[in-house]
Amino acid sequence: MPSLQPYSTFGLAASCDSIQSFSDVTSFLSIFNTSKNKNKAIYILGGGSNSVFTEDFDGTILVNEIKGISHFDTESHHYLRVGAGENWHDFVTLCMKEKWYGFENLALIPGSVGACPIQNIGAYGREVNAFIDKIECVFLESGEQVLLGNEDCQFGYRDSVFKHALANKVLITHVNFKLPKHYELETSYGELAALTEPTPEKVYSTVIQIRKSKLPDPAELGNAGSFFKNPVVSKAVFQAIAQEYDSVPHFVVHGGVELPATEKEQIKIPAAWLIDQAGFKGKTLNKVRCHPTQPLVLTNLGGATGSDVLTMAKDIIASVHQKFGIQLEPEVRLLGSKGLISL
Ligand SMILES: Cc1cc2nc3c(=O)[nH]c(=O)nc-3n(C[C@H](O)[C@H](O)[C@H](O)COP(=O)(O)OP(=O)(O)OC[C@H]3O[C@@H](n4cnc5c(N)ncnc54)[C@H](O)[C@@H]3O)c2cc1C
Repeated sequence: MPSLQPYSTFGLAASCDSIQSFSDVTSFLSIFNTSKNKNKAIYILGGGSNSVFTEDFDGTILVNEIKGISHFDTESHHYLRVGAGENWHDFVTLCMKEKWYGFENLALIPGSVGACPIQNIGAYGREVNAFIDKIECVFLESGEQVLLGNEDCQFGYRDSVFKHALANKVLITHVNFKLPKHYELETSYGELAALTEPTPEKVYSTVIQIRKSKLPDPAELGNAGSFFKNPVVSKAVFQAIAQEYDSVPHFVVHGGVELPATEKEQIKIPAAWLIDQAGFKGKTLNKVRCHPTQPLVLTNLGGATGSDVLTMAKDIIASVHQKFGIQLEPEVRLLGSKGLISL
């Protein structure tokens, strides 16, 4: 039984029936159909930085290695077609080198290009959907190839159609990006706001610096980034919390874009703050720790089990709910023996 430990950045000990990689659609469909005929579960994997295997997986893991980057430009835009198996940060770095700007806020996010639309990756005020033009997919059951436009993907905060109507139904083979040659840098967030005369290069290197200082490197300490999503609450819920805690950090959400609060509609409260207030920052339970400098991240201190992770996650959810009446939701994809599970 092959080990899944090296295939997931959280690094829990878990195995599966088989792990197979593919670099084109024909080989993907062949492996998929063989597994299906054996009635085996399948799971498509990129870099494993958002997937936590909480127990042995009773099926086949298909690792995407579809590569290739092509580019052309018009007077107003750069167009990029990128294989889903390309590494996201390497791709961002290449874009910076070529002066194809736009992705600088999203530097150093681990994982593959093919997974970036699944949860609409975002950081420091940018979400990737701003630059997604089209997505090339293959329907698993029929092998039919389809092209989805940006609107078809129903992007939201860490959300897309690939987590709902198309969940486990398609393989993303290529992501097509469209980068405007003239656009405004996004520097409204945290330390980026302090940059003098910001350039895309300065934003890129500052983002890398901030991330390295705050987030644990999965190569040294197993983790899957933010374990929970930042909850979005109504104005009434926010005001009730703010009455008791006048320092509660928050952002107003305007159709997916976050701005410092001026008018209050839907309000996003950092889950890290809620978890900290609930007393979990730096707390260790068995072999799982709530990270001391970023409590939104749970880490594997070495030898943690799936049940250790689930126990810690459930404790955090219950405590935050008890204290604030807010239900945290996992941002990570949790896997049991047959596929995705919920908490
Ligand atoms: C240290 C750290 C920091 C992080 N920071 C951020 C951050 O700032 N912002 C952010 O948004 N995320 C962040 N993440 C989460 C993670 O990096 C992203 O979600 C990333 O896009 C996952 O890519 P992956 O290839 O590793 O996905 P995987 O874990 O391999 O897969 C994730 C999901 O996508 C599906 N999938 C993958 N590829 C395909 C495909 N080709 N076709 C169909 N389905 C597919 C999988 O089945 C799974 O459901 C962080 C993670 C870590 C470890």
